Amino acid sequence: PTLFEGQRYAVLGLGRNGVPAVLALARCGATVQAWDDGENARTALGKHCATLSADIAARITCAPIETVMGFDGLVLSPGIPHSLPKPHPVALLAQDAGVPILSDAELLYRAVRGAGSKARFAGITGTNGKSTTTTLLAHILDNAGLPVAAGGNLGPAALALPLLPDNGVYVLEMSSYMLERLDTLHFDAACLLNLTPDHLDRHAGMEGYALAKTRVFAGQTPDDLAVIGVEDDWCRDIAAKLKAGPARCVTISGAAVTPPSMLYGQNNAVWQNNTTAGPQKVADIGPALPGSHNAENAAAAYAMAEFLGVSQADIASGLRTFPGLPHRQKVVAEQNGVVFVDDSKATNADASSRALGCYDRLVWIAGGMAKEGGINSLTDYFPRITHTFLIGRDAEELAATLRAHNAPYTIVGTLEAAVPAAYATAQQSHTPVVLLSPACASFDQFSGFEARGLRFQELARAMQTDTAPQT
Ligand code: ADP
Repeated sequence: PTLFEGQRYAVLGLGRNGVPAVLALARCGATVQAWDDGENARTALGKHCATLSADIAARITCAPIETVMGFDGLVLSPGIPHSLPKPHPVALLAQDAGVPILSDAELLYRAVRGAGSKARFAGITGTNGKSTTTTLLAHILDNAGLPVAAGGNLGPAALALPLLPDNGVYVLEMSSYMLERLDTLHFDAACLLNLTPDHLDRHAGMEGYALAKTRVFAGQTPDDLAVIGVEDDWCRDIAAKLKAGPARCVTISGAAVTPPSMLYGQNNAVWQNNTTAGPQKVADIGPALPGSHNAENAAAAYAMAEFLGVSQADIASGLRTFPGLPHRQKVVAEQNGVVFVDDSKATNADASSRALGCYDRLVWIAGGMAKEGGINSLTDYFPRITHTFLIGRDAEELAATLRAHNAPYTIVGTLEAAVPAAYATAQQSHTPVVLLSPACASFDQFSGFEARGLRFQELARAMQTDTAPQT
């Protein structure tokens, strides 16, 4: 496709999103000026360019962006602020020159349409559950035999996705940042899961954040679907407006609520609220989606999959067979009646509360770099916890909260010490679950939540054999 033939783009930030943007734009005929203040990032781009054919590589220059005059668009990496209070100087240049700042999702849409494909687009946003719902919907569609490409905020970047045929579906996880930079892309199926205060720094408070997220519904027509969670006040307000809007609106929730939502998850199943016949079960939810938060994600995926033409039986089979996302309440090992659950993605107390609420009795491994408030909001769950093993920098701070509530704990320092100790305690006390749900960031001991989860998995699997865990 030569959709961008003769056009000029500037790409600032050569990371996970920037590099695929440069390559895709150049492949589609544009000339691209690319830049990153980091030398390593520039070198990485250079390596990619070396693999391109000479005519495509010739369209890419790596140089600081001093002007965007005459450019057709600017692509900024998600980390680069483009709006108040402190827009990046290059974003200001674009504003002054009247050059649009576009998200890579917008460029994907243009490229797909330019290539003549009628593939449909599903967009998913919200404060929590985006990655799970995106991956789940993609699994359901794929399981039903539809060509699917999933990505966006969770990766791969939108412009790294392949071209799909007319019956294909792009499932995009949309950050507010990406949503603010759409132009012609509108979603056939759009979903806003929930809105709770988070990432407020770059937005003008909650109002601005909500407004940015609501853009997932922008440009929708009567042929489109709008799915909205109705468990928080912000989303309930938005739902009231959406019902009067052009798209078909389906309200969802992770439990039965009043007034009733149209689809809800409860008791490991999705239910449809039929005005005449009352609630009807439409599908069971598989073991990889525990808890009411995942029931909300399942209801959302159900609504979108049904709209995209998947049969009830195929949706049910997709919900049942979904393998789950790594590091989100994922069962990674089982030994002598004890299951090991990796919830390393829970880097704050709110996320950990979701996992703690799923088990009646458990041994808990927590700690790392605590967020504001530590685990003070989790005290209601302490009675379920046989024993807590604390790791990481802020173990003492978390211990103070446990102590104040007479909850038994041991500071063990490392995951290597925590896993065997937790397993021994679980066996002695006949507690069925060892849960790693740190409620803390990981950077004091790990490169990120993924590395922390992988180490936990290794140590847990070592419990399955007779060999002692590696230290
Ligand atoms: P995101 O992509 O929005 O960060 P994920 O799907 O990766 O969300 O889930 C991250 C964590 O958020 C999960 O481990 C869980 O603790 C919590 N979570 C997942 N879905 C929901 C939901 N629908 N509502 C509230 N919390 C959720």
